[in-house]
Amino acid sequence: MKRVAEGSRAERLAIESLELPKLDLSLELASDVENIARGVYSPLEGFLVQEDYLHVLDEMRLSDDTPWTIPIILDANPEELTDVREGDTVALSYCGDPFAVMVVEEVYGWDRREYAFKVYGTLDSRHPGVAKLADAKELLVGGRVELFKPLPHKFEKYTLWPAETRVLFETKSWRTVAGFQTRNVPHMGHEYVQKAALTFVDGLFVNPLVGWKKPGDYRDEVIVAAYEALIEHYFLKDTVVFAVLRMSMRYAGPREAVHHAIVRKNYGCTHFIVGRDHAGVGDFYGPYDAWELFREFPDLGVTPLFIREAFYCEVCGGFVNEKICPHGEEHRVRVSGTRLREMIRKGEAPPPELMRPEVARVVLSFESPFIQ
Ligand SMILES: [Zn+2]
Repeated sequence: MKRVAEGSRAERLAIESLELPKLDLSLELASDVENIARGVYSPLEGFLVQEDYLHVLDEMRLSDDTPWTIPIILDANPEELTDVREGDTVALSYCGDPFAVMVVEEVYGWDRREYAFKVYGTLDSRHPGVAKLADAKELLVGGRVELFKPLPHKFEKYTLWPAETRVLFETKSWRTVAGFQTRNVPHMGHEYVQKAALTFVDGLFVNPLVGWKKPGDYRDEVIVAAYEALIEHYFLKDTVVFAVLRMSMRYAGPREAVHHAIVRKNYGCTHFIVGRDHAGVGDFYGPYDAWELFREFPDLGVTPLFIREAFYCEVCGGFVNEKICPHGEEHRVRVSGTRLREMIRKGEAPPPELMRPEVARVVLSFESPFIQ
């Protein structure tokens, strides 16, 4: 782990960066720089060079065979690179303010359709990842990055980096930790899955993504407040760590599920919960496709926990799943994220079989809980 923003090296880079050609980044790309530098994307030390990029597209591995399923890339227009030659060091800035340097190892062209087809499995522009590629720039810039100034974070209190969570888990004497990825407010189905995992690991790491998501998804503030309510009322104090991660959703389904697992391994998780239609959108991926893909990565270094979707069964009298409830569909109350969003949009409180009242109250207290 690199130490940043202290010591002479960071100070020196901050001064040197003022003289360098500058690439101004979106918050999304700037966050990727920070994630690389803070070890969230370990073992990456920079944005992918072409050989690794192509390897990730075709093999879902880096060129040294390390599992890696989502390309971490920096796109730029030729006009932004007129002063830049391969081998140069450039300053990376956010809102005009330099915060990192990058050694430009390679500038190369890419085929966005190929990217869409291989990463998302579709060219359909109704897929939010594919749609977003229309705005992507012409060239990719590969090379190592070094951060010298942390970016501002909206949820400072909940912004933890891998070096910090690893120490935290150790302090709690957790030998096994299950990571839980989310971009939603918690409903009963999520809580069931988290607690099913907690039954046989020492601790749970709840790690929602903040940052770019598609319109209609919950706003970051709502997710954070809803989890605060859930954890306060329904979890034992020393069983859960809650932290946010600023990383864009890709909606790449199975590939992104594996990426989410790698990231949580870097945070110190030994296990990772893979739910139904993980990182999916619409009906682009089968509900359990991600489970299949994990079987291709016995060398992932983190154990996937395949936990089935939960529902309420009136006969069983509680939350169960298809593997443990023998009763018919007529007795089951399914928790549909879409249905919950509809109720919330109308200002209706979801029933307690679907969402904890404390959570529902918090979500409904927001005037507009969804991304426009
Ligand atoms: Zn049942």
